[in-house]
Amino acid sequence: MKDSISPERFVRDGGEPGYRRALRDGTLAGRVDAALRRLEDCHVCPRDCGGNRLFEAAGTCRTGRLAVVASAFPHFGEEDCLSGTRGSGTIFFSQCNLRCVFCQNWDISQVPAGRAVTGRQLASIMLALESRGCHNINLVTPSHVVPQVVEAIAEAARAGLGVPVVYNTGGYDTPASLRLLDGLVDIYMPDFKCWHAETGRRLMAAPDYAERAREAIAEMHRQVGVLEVDRHGLARRGVLLRHLVMPGQADEAAAIFQWVAREISPDTVVNVMGQYRPECRVGHPSETGGPLHADINRRPTRQEMASAFDAGRAAGLWRFA
Ligand code: SF4
Repeated sequence: MKDSISPERFVRDGGEPGYRRALRDGTLAGRVDAALRRLEDCHVCPRDCGGNRLFEAAGTCRTGRLAVVASAFPHFGEEDCLSGTRGSGTIFFSQCNLRCVFCQNWDISQVPAGRAVTGRQLASIMLALESRGCHNINLVTPSHVVPQVVEAIAEAARAGLGVPVVYNTGGYDTPASLRLLDGLVDIYMPDFKCWHAETGRRLMAAPDYAERAREAIAEMHRQVGVLEVDRHGLARRGVLLRHLVMPGQADEAAAIFQWVAREISPDTVVNVMGQYRPECRVGHPSETGGPLHADINRRPTRQEMASAFDAGRAAGLWRFA
């Protein structure tokens, strides 16, 4: 475990996941009803497509009443505080509300893949991962299936789930949907991908991406605060922010880190990620013959990685996962 994220004041032993308190309070059933109603005229995410997902797959996410699970397994390649020694119980949802031209998981996020599951079946997957020893349940790309996630957490809580739930998102979420998860999600792990509207438009079909991500991360922080870990360095509660360093976008990384340190907290845990590689539509031949998105058709250099860390430290951040 990295000592940098877990000095004594951020260690929290004991305690239980938030959804166990919601179970005792008797508020789960009402939350599930409120969440599922949002599928009728879908405004679950900032796309605001408005389709009735109770009857058909609608909108940018092309997902209907049931969430579609592409894969579920103990993941040993997440941050140390999530993977620990027994793995993070990762559930990859199919489809996404973003359309990143550089998506590193495009074969499940932009192509139908996997099995449609009921809330009860999704809860069973969570319980099976817990019984395999996973330290947490890690919901990957959940923004378009928040109602189904609320339904499944309620089912799993009733059946005895006891490990923290991680909401692992691209960051294009609405505060209203996140409020449905208040007290049910223990760890929020949002990406903050880019800062400029033009970059959001060009690379994600979402010119409002940065604005929405700022609102969403502020709401996540309001709910769970900065990341706390147990004595073994395993995440218990809080926000863990990810930034994938992109080639030629140093100014965007710096702006993101300055905002996080100033408006959220300099104690925010940030994973500055270096695994970007040209994927999805990047590098495909364009109509003019050159590669599509030529500006990001390479890996970030060692110098760009070092500059991103420098920008984070200069902004006042210090807890790097
Ligand atoms: S969740 Fe899907 S259908 Fe609903 S607003 Fe977002 S992209 Fe559109």
